[in-house]
Formats: sequence, C-alpha cells, structure tokens
Amino acid sequence: MKFFVETFGCQMNTSDSQEMARSLMARGFVPSDNARDADCILVNTCTVRQHAEDKAVSFLGRLAEWKEADPRRVLVVAGCAAERLGEKNLKRRFPHVDLVVGAKSIDRFDRLLDECMASPPRDGFDARGEDLGSWSRETRIERLLPEETVSAHVSVMRGCNYACSYCVVPSVRGREVYRPAGTVLSEVRQKAALGLKEVILLGQTVNSYRPSAAEDGVSDFAGLLRAVNQVPGVRRIRFMSPHPFYLDEKTANAMAESENVCRHMHLPVQSGSDGVLERMRRNYTRSGFLEKMSLLRRAMPDIFVTTDFIVGFPGETEEDFRATISLASEADFDGAYVFKYSSRPGTVSAGWPDDVPEAAKEARHGELLSLMEGISTKKTEAFVNRRREVLVESKGEHSFEGRLREGRKVFFTSGTPHRPGDLVPVDITGASGRTLKGRAV
Ligand code: SAH
Ligand code: SF4
Repeated sequence: MKFFVETFGCQMNTSDSQEMARSLMARGFVPSDNARDADCILVNTCTVRQHAEDKAVSFLGRLAEWKEADPRRVLVVAGCAAERLGEKNLKRRFPHVDLVVGAKSIDRFDRLLDECMASPPRDGFDARGEDLGSWSRETRIERLLPEETVSAHVSVMRGCNYACSYCVVPSVRGREVYRPAGTVLSEVRQKAALGLKEVILLGQTVNSYRPSAAEDGVSDFAGLLRAVNQVPGVRRIRFMSPHPFYLDEKTANAMAESENVCRHMHLPVQSGSDGVLERMRRNYTRSGFLEKMSLLRRAMPDIFVTTDFIVGFPGETEEDFRATISLASEADFDGAYVFKYSSRPGTVSAGWPDDVPEAAKEARHGELLSLMEGISTKKTEAFVNRRREVLVESKGEHSFEGRLREGRKVFFTSGTPHRPGDLVPVDITGASGRTLKGRAV
C-alpha cells in the first residue's frame, strides 16, 4: 500500500505531516511521490489566512475522482483547517473524505487511523504498528522519510497562549503544551545519528518553551539551544517562530555562544505602528521591538533577521502604514513576508469592520513588498566575493543547491561530487534577488 502527503502551511504542519507519515509507515504503507498511484492520501491543511484554507479545500475537491476510481482508497484530512471546519461539515461537503484529524487530535492519529482502517479492513494494513502518535514520549526513529535528506523538523511545543486579535491559531491548536526536553533531545540525537545535519526546532512561540521539569539540564529555550548544540552530528540549528516578548539576553547569549546555531532569526513584527500593535494584542511596542533587535545585534553583530508584516489591519491608517514602512528600514531587516490582512471567523478582529479598502490593501502590500525586496537584494549582494560555507540540500546534473547559515539560497558548481548534507566552502560569485551563485573552493 502506498501513501502520499500534501502539506499546506507552516513548518509546524510539515513536522506534523512527517509524524503522521511515520505512523502510516509503521502500519505497512510505503511513501509514494505521486498522488494518483496512492492508496491513501493525507492532506494536512492550513487556515491561518482564508487563501490558505481555500487552497487546501480546493485540493480536497479535486480528489473526488481519485476516490471514485477505487472506493477502498483512504482520504485523510488533517490539520488546522480540518479543526476549524470540523468533521461533520467536511464530510458533508466532501463525501469522499474517510477520516478527519483536526490539529488538536494529531496526538491521537494512530488510534483514529486504526479505527478508520478497520471497516472495511484493507489488505496490507497492520493495525498492530507501533503507536507513534505519542508526541510527548520518546519514540524510536528507525529510518528517515524520503524528504528528510538534510533537515530534521523537531517540534518542541504545541499550541499558543497568546491571543493576537487577528489570529486563528490559538483556537485551532489550543493552549501551549511543552514536550519534555529529554524527548526532544532523544529525537534530535536519533535523527542526527541517521545523518541529518540541520535541526529546526518548532513551536508557535518557540522561545516560550518551558517544560514542567528540567531534563538533561534543560529548563527553558536558551538551555535547549545549548543542549542541541552539543549533539554530535548536528551542524546547524534553526528555530521557528520566536515571539519578540520572550526574546531576552539569556536566549541571545545562548545563540551567540552555540557555534551551530545559525545567525538567522525569523522574528515577526507585524506592524510598525503602536496603535496597530496594541489592537493586534502583540504585547510589545515599536520601541520595545527595536530594543530586542539591538539586544540581538549586540550579542551577534552578524545576525540576519527576517520578519512578517500584516498590512490592511482593521483601522490601519495611511499614517500607521508609514510607521510600518519606516520601521522596515530602521530595524534593518534582511527580508520579510508581507501578508494582506485576512479576517478569520471567531477571532477578536473579525468583529471589527474590515475597513481598509481592498485597493489600499493591495497598494500597501505592493509598496512594502517592493521595499523589502530591494533591501533583501542589497543584503544578498553583500555576500558576493566572499567565501561561505554552504549546506548542500539537493543536486542537479552539473550544479548543487544549498543554503548559507544566514538562510540565503546558493546555486553552485563544483569539480567534485557532493551529496545533500555535505558542508562545502563556496566562493560566491554573483547574486540575483534573494539567491546567490558560486563555485566550490
Ligand atoms: N506564531 C507566529 C506566527 C504564526 S502565523 C508569531 O506570532 O509570530 C504566521 C504569520 O501569518 C504571522 O506572523 C502573520 O504575519 C500571518 N497571519 C496570521 N494571521 C493572519 C491574518 N488573519 N491575516 C493575515 N496574516 C496573518
Ligand atoms: Fe497567532 Fe499571535 Fe499565537 Fe503567533 S503568537 S500563533 S500570531 S496568536
């Protein structure tokens, strides 16, 4: 039996998909890179913006024919949009869906899958597969998934205790739950022993990590960074997404003193206007955010900081938007994602008039995006004529693709063969947009 996974949304979803894929493999399924041939398709959905949800829902709709061709096929819908829309609603709209596993139920994936597969029973399915869904306790990771060639996604917490007024995440993922440090470290050690070189620690506010008991000397996020830094085989450590409120000197120092922690942080700011930040309930001000940036740069003058912005938030005036534009340069960001505000049912801001006209949202989005693209191109160009270490992610016939510690993508040629996971010194010869090109030394 073959399975295929389609993941929408953030890296937390990527990590959840990998966890569910391991459960499928423990039950006799083998991964397929082609949806058409699969006996089981798992669609892991996102609902953070309406557009993300629409994409996942339209993908589901297109699977009706696949299911019709063989009704024994199994369609599983998981994740945040599944949680928001609910099982009843999804099964009514898409009768070809067999199983719905909302984001809050991912820990119960094994049991739900076994129940679903029991009627009718399917040949080749082994319901006695090990129960891997127990995210909070240690599991044996015997082999890597096909897409795990370089990076290990390791979630350290689930849920979010914040209540940003625009955000649907707390309602679909629930309150924060921290994974025991011993379990996190065991997963990192196992994946590094199997050959993965990069670890990406994941959580909605990953730096609020504070497990209920200290294990392996780890009682907070700074401690976790230091401990992962010691794991043999790990060469690069990244994390997503830190929240500015929890960014303190202890974390900045742990980063600076851990040689494998990448000099890159994605630190979402959302807006440069104090009024908007307050209505977003972000729990920091513009100047407070800038102080966090200084704290980071004092500890690591070479750090790259990228961010997220939302434009067109309810009540955002032209003056508010100008404050965002000026912050983009003042904070000296190295890159950004810019999102147009999307009203999400059930959030606080959904009760406020979505009063920035679409044309203004579009114009603000375009202006900020082009400012950030310009900044990000300049920052990329600064690497030209420098020698940098590249972690190889994939290889073509004559060239290789990889990443700098700062997160920039590099295409390079080489006289010798390299494999994904190799660290190669590269002379950077050119830049285009956010990507670099070069030649292996
Ligand atoms: N936990 C992270 C963000 C997770 S959501 C944090 O707090 O930093 C990822 C990004 O999606 C956010 O940073 C925000 O920029 C964007 N986003 C979230 N809700 C949104 C909404 N309703 N409309 C537009 N963008 C949104
Ligand atoms: Fe959403 Fe705010 Fe939590 Fe991030 S911190 S997931 S934006 S509620």
